[in-house]
Amino acid sequence: MNADSSADVSIIGAGPTGLCLAQTLARAGLNVVIIDRQPRAALENPAFDGREIALTHESRRLLQDWGVWDRIPSSEISDLRHAQVFDGPDPRFSMNVRAELGNRSQLGWLVPNHLIRKAAYDAVVDQDQIRLLDGIKVAAVSSTDANATIYLDDERRIQSKLLIAADSRFSETRRAMGIQAYMRDYGKSMMVFRVEHEKPHDHIAWEWFGYGQTRALLPLNNNCASVVLTLPHSEMQALLKRDDDSFDHDISSRYEFRLGHMRRISERKVYPLVGVYPTRFHARRFALIGDAAVGMHPVTAHGFNLGTLSVRHLSERVIEAHNHGQDIASPSLLESYTRAHRLSTLPLFAATNLVVSLYTADHTPAKFLRKAVLSTASRLTPFKKMVAAQLTG
Ligand SMILES: Cc1cc2nc3c(=O)[nH]c(=O)nc-3n(C[C@H](O)[C@H](O)[C@H](O)COP(=O)(O)OP(=O)(O)OC[C@H]3O[C@@H](n4cnc5c(N)ncnc54)[C@H](O)[C@@H]3O)c2cc1C
Repeated sequence: MNADSSADVSIIGAGPTGLCLAQTLARAGLNVVIIDRQPRAALENPAFDGREIALTHESRRLLQDWGVWDRIPSSEISDLRHAQVFDGPDPRFSMNVRAELGNRSQLGWLVPNHLIRKAAYDAVVDQDQIRLLDGIKVAAVSSTDANATIYLDDERRIQSKLLIAADSRFSETRRAMGIQAYMRDYGKSMMVFRVEHEKPHDHIAWEWFGYGQTRALLPLNNNCASVVLTLPHSEMQALLKRDDDSFDHDISSRYEFRLGHMRRISERKVYPLVGVYPTRFHARRFALIGDAAVGMHPVTAHGFNLGTLSVRHLSERVIEAHNHGQDIASPSLLESYTRAHRLSTLPLFAATNLVVSLYTADHTPAKFLRKAVLSTASRLTPFKKMVAAQLTG
């Protein structure tokens, strides 16, 4: 690429949302430059990262529209039929969310994150309208009323009408463009890995709030599951030091042998838990998408689902302006994007924070409240229908 090259849209971050946005805009005839600091080999064949993404019906539909879904091997897509939420060891305090409440046969699908990334990469790589710059560091970004500029570390500059940050919840671009964000460090770490187990899971996901720990189990094909364990960081470190047999036994007993003995069959990945919500999703000729826009706590399994929504909200507006020969980054367009995306995400972000606060509090009044909330919710069919509808669309 020449110095001072230009594009309609420049995107920083070739993660799943950056790639999906590039794809949908390029198909509509816009020129896109997408930049990532990772080398091409890592983008082309992303390594297993432990995340199994629970996708809603709406996300699947969008991924189909963007030509991503059909590139995911079907053997790697697991059905998510129902979900069960428990509080503590007593099974009376639980809630079942059945897919039928949303008039569907299943709540959604589980797909490994690295395969979503790979499918999204494969969808963009041969598009003439998209230039992918890998292994590159961004030195600075700026915008004027006329355009946005990315200054690369190697002194090249890229000018575009619209600059997008898709560079994760810790987005450096968001900060460089002066957008403030509410950040909440939940003070815990989440470990994820795959296990095989003795008893069938019947494709039911569990969220199991305990005292001092939160466990989840995501059902995968072939009698395997993804274990999702949240612990204080120091406890997590101690657990990681155990030998294989002792680790497997510890995990099986944390899950009360409900699926029999569990044996770890993948690497373990640990993530710090930090939630992020910016004051707005745009600045002059600039917009945030994906985790850079909303960094969700994974407990409600909605981060990437909100990411696909951000791509939809922004691309619909940009493509419409482009088709009418209008400015694709006008202040009114970007304000309308912020409004729409805030409306769709803020209630869920706030509700997720409430759930996390309540169900990680272990003092006695909280324990009573936790049980009262869950048993009330489990009797409220309209509430359960709302949760099911959120997933099934
Ligand atoms: C344990 C766990 C479980 C989850 N489960 C679910 C789930 O069940 N359902 C769900 O919907 N979501 C889930 N999520 C959330 C989901 O993984 C994220 O929402 C999604 O991966 C975000 O995609 P993204 O493209 O916005 O950002 P990322 O995947 O973070 O990609 C950002 C990209 O930007 C690049 N980058 C960063 N900084 C720069 C820079 N300065 N310059 C250039 N490039 C840069 C990075 O290299 C990367 O390629 C989970 C998350 C975790 C941690």
